[in-house]
Amino acid sequence: MSLDDKISDRVRSIPKSGIRDFFELVQGRDDVISLGVGEPDFATPWHIREAAIYSLERGETSYTSNLGMPKLRQCITDYVLKQFDVAYDPASEVIVTVGVSEALDLAFRALLNEGDEVLYHEPCYVSYNPGIVLAGGKPVPIQTRAEDHFALMAKDVEEAITPRTRVLMLNFPTNPTGAVEPLGELEKIAALCVKHDLICITDEIYSELLYTTEDHVSIATMPGMRERTILMHGFSKAFAMTGWRLGYACAPAVLTDAMMKIHQYSMLCAPIMSQMAAIEALENGAPAVEEMHRSYAMRRNLLLGAFDEMGLECFPPGGAFYVFPKICEFGLTSKEFAMRFLEEESVAVVPGDAFGAAGEGHVRACYATGVDDLRTAMERLGNFVGRLRDVGDMKVAG
Ligand code: PLP
Repeated sequence: MSLDDKISDRVRSIPKSGIRDFFELVQGRDDVISLGVGEPDFATPWHIREAAIYSLERGETSYTSNLGMPKLRQCITDYVLKQFDVAYDPASEVIVTVGVSEALDLAFRALLNEGDEVLYHEPCYVSYNPGIVLAGGKPVPIQTRAEDHFALMAKDVEEAITPRTRVLMLNFPTNPTGAVEPLGELEKIAALCVKHDLICITDEIYSELLYTTEDHVSIATMPGMRERTILMHGFSKAFAMTGWRLGYACAPAVLTDAMMKIHQYSMLCAPIMSQMAAIEALENGAPAVEEMHRSYAMRRNLLLGAFDEMGLECFPPGGAFYVFPKICEFGLTSKEFAMRFLEEESVAVVPGDAFGAAGEGHVRACYATGVDDLRTAMERLGNFVGRLRDVGDMKVAG
């Protein structure tokens, strides 16, 4: 008997994450500086941890309402109103989930019938494609380009729409590029959603981490969009709470009800101690978020300055905590570049193709890493690209 045969076709059809594959190589190597995993290097702010500790001390260890604790849902709608300028009813239009990851899974499964098409922009977060496939949908990536600073162009969306298109998936600021969407394009994309009666899922997990002078605008605020948008957000990035596994989705009640049906039979509810921590994060976390944001801004500038000095092309990302420099000039694939950089200089970055074919020719570096390590990594990158260019010159000369 082969156990392989027992695995469903759907699960067999999806690859393992390119990020995880790569990081298995790094496991257990203390000498490696990792700019790989997209995770804050800060521990969760102390007052947030303390709220969870006090809650445990009080013996609050039970299930909660399936939708999430009423107080947390109220805090979420207050926060979303302030942050995104969209009002939701905490009783019926919010569902607290196990990270944005679960919210994505619920939304795809709630919305998609077999073969329904989901448009999304690539390069993108590694979960979108497999999430769509696992829900029976058909992923339809739309390539974004370095020359457009990886913004999603409305004309490309329009071209990709077919009678089977059901959902448009957005993520700005974007993992892995740090792209932010120009307002004019977002308005045109919103009009397309209305015209073609699409549901929009917008993953706003990096919305606090912006380095532009303009404010973040969610597509949910645009005419005709609130009633067709699932707005997702979570605590992992801006609040440095990856391990708490907490996120949420806000949407019209018909959509949250459908997601709730799956959530109540799969997760039941998000962990109570994480929900208690999240209440504290939303009520009193703003100064800590602001401080971490300042620190990321400084590190982003450090990396962009270093790229500039070594002549490595990289558009200045408007958000998140990633840079996505171009490495085509070296004649290596992104995998070869990342592998050799790891082997020769002990620095881990993620090959751009892990985020879809449109990421080829780039690598992703996460700068939520200590400043000393970032400086060392940039020195090593300078040495590495210098060597690659010398070899290139010799080849030309020879
Ligand atoms: N969405 C994006 C764009 C991400 O980059 C990530 C994590 O890297 C997630 C969602 C997952 O978030 P969570 O930790 O809330 O599940």
